[in-house]
Amino acid sequence: MSRLIFLGPPGAGKGTQAQILGQSLKIPHISTGDILRDAISKGTPLGIKAQSYVDGGELVPDALILDLIRERLSQADTLKGWILDGFPRNVSQASFLDQLLEQLQQNCDYAVNFEVPDQVLTERMLARGRKDDNEDTIRRRLQIYHEQTAPVIDYYDNQQILKSVDGNRLLEEVQASLQEIINSD
Ligand code: AMP
Repeated sequence: MSRLIFLGPPGAGKGTQAQILGQSLKIPHISTGDILRDAISKGTPLGIKAQSYVDGGELVPDALILDLIRERLSQADTLKGWILDGFPRNVSQASFLDQLLEQLQQNCDYAVNFEVPDQVLTERMLARGRKDDNEDTIRRRLQIYHEQTAPVIDYYDNQQILKSVDGNRLLEEVQASLQEIINSD
């Protein structure tokens, strides 16, 4: 049973690693960004409300994200464990998650912080070429990351569940580091 939070800047490789690890552990990879992009492409009420924020690289308002996470973590497949990718993005989302997990009588095992320099992140995102991967939006997302998301690292450090991995390495090397963290349980 693993319950993991993947923290780190956009472009750090959280999504790729969460997908691989989720498959190997047979637990859901829950990416708020993927859920939002899916909602946007389907034109659901959530998608319509979220689109301008996602396109501009701004954080979607907490109210929308917290409802989404509450609903997702209430689904039966999460009883086997989960990997959260892209959530929490600020300290208030982190404290909401604590309350939600208490209600669900679950504990997070580790928050894993992916460390990658900004210069590398920008190059990776430009190469990825998603709709929100243009230079202006990337700059804004990195700024928001440093202002609002980086404090979440300290939040989990204080809870003594923080682990860090050097994300500026080959995919397989990062994968091996994650496996070590899981095996240390
Ligand atoms: P990501 O795929 O995680 O890079 O997320 C893409 C975009 O979705 C972000 O730039 C935000 O606009 C939005 N988003 C994803 N997760 C969150 C979150 N936890 N809180 C607010 N906005 C989010």
